[in-house]
Amino acid sequence: MDDWQNLLKGSLTKPEEIAERFGLDVEEVKKVAKNFKFRITPYYANLIKEKGDPIYRQIVPDPAELAENSGAADPLNEDEDSPVPSIVHRYPDRVLFLVSHSCGSYCRFCTRKRKVGDSTKINPRSIEDGLEYIRQHPEIRDVIISGGDPLMLSDNKLEYILKSLRAIEHIQILRIGSRMPCFLPQRITPKLVKMLQRYHPLYMNVHFNHPDEITEEAARALNLLANAGIPLGNQTVLLKGVNDDPEVMKKLVQKLLTVRVRPYYIYQADYVKGTEYLRTKVSKGLEIIQAIRGWTSGLAVPQFVIDAPGGGGKIPLLPAYVQSVDDEKVVLRNYQGKVFVYPQVDSPDNQVPAQKPAQKGAFKPEFMPELEEMMY
Ligand SMILES: *Cc1c(COP(=O)(O)O)cnc(C)c1O
Ligand code: SF4
Repeated sequence: MDDWQNLLKGSLTKPEEIAERFGLDVEEVKKVAKNFKFRITPYYANLIKEKGDPIYRQIVPDPAELAENSGAADPLNEDEDSPVPSIVHRYPDRVLFLVSHSCGSYCRFCTRKRKVGDSTKINPRSIEDGLEYIRQHPEIRDVIISGGDPLMLSDNKLEYILKSLRAIEHIQILRIGSRMPCFLPQRITPKLVKMLQRYHPLYMNVHFNHPDEITEEAARALNLLANAGIPLGNQTVLLKGVNDDPEVMKKLVQKLLTVRVRPYYIYQADYVKGTEYLRTKVSKGLEIIQAIRGWTSGLAVPQFVIDAPGGGGKIPLLPAYVQSVDDEKVVLRNYQGKVFVYPQVDSPDNQVPAQKPAQKGAFKPEFMPELEEMMY
């Protein structure tokens, strides 16, 4: 057994343990856990400074999860776009490949609560069906290896999947989505990255939601990955009481760049059953983007998206920088709120004139006599 597997074994998984540690009612914890299991790695539990803080809210089972008021079991309608159980094929050229049902710890806001943590839903045996589906669909050029968390698999199992995918000619890029660098950075070992770098071009999207999660250990893990030439992106979920504050989010994205992770997406929290207490208003995300764009490195600015309920996919949202567009001008607002006018191109119909198809050897600078002089 690897060191990280031993560390994982020491996780908080018993209602009694968690009730005692955080002063909760054990019966209540049991009820919540029946609905969606919990696990908290000792490393991540140690990041909790006090009850109800941003780390705590992400990971400790909360009776508010049992509220029946709203939310859907499968808000993104993933099951509808799922030709085989381990694949979600929603976009033309890429698929989500679910290879693991378990995670290092279980996020209370998880979109795939209905599947994650349940070995009957994401079954290791369904991996073969997924591979076969990808083989038979030449339009797929990008595979997002997800779950659950793919880095919960042993190095050997993960390598088998990567190798099988690399053997498919139409696959150009591979991506791994993992929260292990956040929950259990010890999972990122020299042995793992040595294996991963045999399957380039390989990208990794990690998942950090708060600046306090970027510890020295996490930085070490991310450094190993970046040194192996794996471009790193980050996905953040906007959560009430966790990161719904422009200053916190700015600190997070700046800190990510210092560990060579490029902020990729901020997700509006999905409309998942039992997560209402963690959702924010959409205007909060727009406010956050407005507080980052222009005020700090453009590299630090992620796209704010809503994964549309019902399966519409990710839709980007931007603060209103474009105030108006007409035939003569575009009125723009900069990051400070100052207004600027950009004149439209001046042509009879205000459109870029169509280019004549270039004919080889027949170049005739009709409108530019001075150019003709220069040429001959
Ligand atoms: C997010 C997602 C992808 C990847 O989207 P990108 O915008 O390319 O990162 C692919 N398939 C599904 C079903 C997704 O939810
Ligand atoms: S790591 Fe990802 S898949 Fe696992 S519980 Fe968290 S959000 Fe869900």
